[in-house]
Amino acid sequence: IADLVSQRRGKRVAPNSVYRILDLFVATNLARRVESANAYIANSHPGCLHDCIFLICDSCGTATHIDDDTLTMHVRTAAERAGFAEVRPVIEVRGICADCG
Ligand SMILES: [Zn+2]
Ligand SMILES: [Zn+2]
Repeated sequence: IADLVSQRRGKRVAPNSVYRILDLFVATNLARRVESANAYIANSHPGCLHDCIFLICDSCGTATHIDDDTLTMHVRTAAERAGFAEVRPVIEVRGICADCG
């Protein structure tokens, strides 16, 4: 991203600035962080706040997202019951996508 933006703007943009902007996007719910892939993905539903579940293809790296509030709610409840606070479920599934399989 830093290379691409640097090229477009004709001046060097540091990777740190890109990370700062990405963090801002995550904080404002415009993007989501895919933790296990150390990547970011545009949030397809910035208007609603819930815990997205990501399916990450080990072959092509594509991250697809599914939503199952029942599942993530169970994870939240279980964590809170164990005395965990400020719970933020991160559910990522690795495998092979339909295109690669
Ligand atoms: Zn979602
Ligand atoms: Zn794939």
